[in-house]
Amino acid sequence: MNSGIQAKAIAAFSPKEPLGPYSFNRRDPKEHDVVIDIKYCGICHSDIHTVRSEWGQANYPVVPGHEISGIVRAVGSQVTKFEIGDHVGVGCFVDSCRECSSCKNQLEQYCLTGMNGTYNSFEKDGKTPTQGGYSDVIVVDENYILNIPDSLPLDKAAPLLCAGITLYSPLKHWNAGPGKKVAIMGLGGLGHMGVKIARALGAEVTVLSHTDQKKEDALKMGAHHFVSTKDQSVFQKYAGRFDLIINTISANINMGDYFGLLKLDGSLVVVGIPESPLQIHPFPLVMQRRSYAGSLIGSIKETQEMLNFCAQHNIVPEIEVINPDQINAAYERVIKSDVRYRFVIDLAKI
Ligand code: NAP
Ligand code: ZN
Ligand code: ZN
Repeated sequence: MNSGIQAKAIAAFSPKEPLGPYSFNRRDPKEHDVVIDIKYCGICHSDIHTVRSEWGQANYPVVPGHEISGIVRAVGSQVTKFEIGDHVGVGCFVDSCRECSSCKNQLEQYCLTGMNGTYNSFEKDGKTPTQGGYSDVIVVDENYILNIPDSLPLDKAAPLLCAGITLYSPLKHWNAGPGKKVAIMGLGGLGHMGVKIARALGAEVTVLSHTDQKKEDALKMGAHHFVSTKDQSVFQKYAGRFDLIINTISANINMGDYFGLLKLDGSLVVVGIPESPLQIHPFPLVMQRRSYAGSLIGSIKETQEMLNFCAQHNIVPEIEVINPDQINAAYERVIKSDVRYRFVIDLAKI
């Protein structure tokens, strides 16, 4: 007998082959589960790192996608937070242990036993592979689902579930706001959300980009300044300027250049995760008591706070909506830094 809910999807089958059609079954909803008709899913650079096994061998087939927006199709008998027809989102994880200090403190992304990733991970049973949002339906426990405010259209809401929260969380944690000079390294999916959110928080925002091609866009998004790092002299010109720098770059770069841009006691927070290690020399850190830190997405609570903040401040990503069969061409454009500024897949077309 066939159990489960049939899902149509796009999957990766090996690190090198193009992605292609795939179908599989989602679990039948349990008491606390919500069945979501996926409408849109953003393409995050993490999807590409994962399916190409740049972060270690992936567990194929992989259905990527953790910027999911959709509409509730059905709810389990004990669900209290959602109703059929609600606009909802799912981000980078679909469960966690719920018992460790991180989970108890509503910081599930830092679950001490490892949260259950939305794809290329395992469900709570520890053996069923999780599959992500490049598909038409998903079943998720109600405690790991976000409410999408009515004023956010579903296509534009999708990238907030990863790109939005990944910048919102460190900007809040490191107190970006009035009187603070914030720089965002890399104007891609994450970076452009960082510009919009940091601006709305009241910070003075600078974009550090590796070409001069995105200047006009950056200023339109709300950046006060745009700096192309192609010209090495900018590292002298802007030395000691920033309170906070967030590195969203997906590739390996010379980090040493950037620490000198921080003030005394400034922090450089890395969210970009390239394939190979980033080298640093301690000198620029020790010289001005600077900090080097990292940050991972955000909790369910903070993601909801971010969605409400974006709705309140009219913050949405710049998106290009594509059909599922355009996925491989979209990946190539992301790798060439040619995305303006997030691809979003229309799953109604699958
Ligand atoms: P993206 O859209 O591809 O943006 C990356 C940006 O990095 C590009 O737009 C480009 O900006 C810059 N860049 C790319 N190649 C470069 C190079 N060779 N030299 C210098 N700059 C380069 O990627 P994304 O989706 O925003 O993701 C960015 C990174 O964050 C990825 O590594 C991803 O896996 C990671 N990530 C981390 C978290 C977390 O929780 N920590 C969450 C999501 C994603 P310019 O053209 O402006 O220079
Ligand atoms: Zn992501
Ligand atoms: Zn936990």
